[in-house]
Amino acid sequence: MFHHRSDPGALGIGVAFTSAALDLGDRQDAEARAAAFAELSDALGVPIAVVHQVHGTAVAEADAPPGTRGLVDLAREADAVFTTQKGLGVAVRVADCLPILLAAEDASIVAAVHAGRAGLLAGVIGETVARLRSMTPAPLLGWIGPHVCGACYEVPEAMAADAAARLDVPATTTRWGTAGIDLGAGAVRQLNDAGVTVTRLDPCTLESRDLHSHRRDHGAGRQIGVIWLATPRRGLASDGRAAPGAAVAAS
Ligand SMILES: [Zn+2]
Repeated sequence: MFHHRSDPGALGIGVAFTSAALDLGDRQDAEARAAAFAELSDALGVPIAVVHQVHGTAVAEADAPPGTRGLVDLAREADAVFTTQKGLGVAVRVADCLPILLAAEDASIVAAVHAGRAGLLAGVIGETVARLRSMTPAPLLGWIGPHVCGACYEVPEAMAADAAARLDVPATTTRWGTAGIDLGAGAVRQLNDAGVTVTRLDPCTLESRDLHSHRRDHGAGRQIGVIWLATPRRGLASDGRAAPGAAVAAS
């Protein structure tokens, strides 16, 4: 079910990227989609909030009532979603575009960003980082999940040249010798320029049969990147050890 999963631990921030074993997209009927989200939600122990992605730059805030499980459809058009609510996952759905997860190091806020070529050029990363920075002075961490690589993402030559110039990354050549763009390199540059410490969790979706790829299979499903803040446990630090001074509270 997972391409990558790291549970909250000492940092208090959980990060997961799913594999093609689950289809979390909208091409299937609502019942199948709800079942897939319920399976994932049960595995992670948090409900999962999503937005309706439109390749734009809008940033939505997510919350959910206590006790919510499974899919939380915010029914909002946006390409980034953040939350300050502990125990609520925020997610974006992808199948070649970049899933980017962001967190403040103080575990006060997390965000998920959907960035394809259009979103990257329009500045969805910068919009999301600005929102996080408006809410905490803490350093920001970022994770870039599996997406189509620069040797597989073919676009017309003029579009490749334009995108390379605007993203300030070298143009690429695909494995079959045509013009391409490395969206991952563009995202790394934007995140680094914004002062975000980035971890990349490739591989290429088009080349990996265990990941959904829209370009390889136009009927493809969707995988997600999801990030959440750990639910605090009374008297325990977030890594499960007794917090200093918390064990013998007088109450
Ligand atoms: Zn590739």
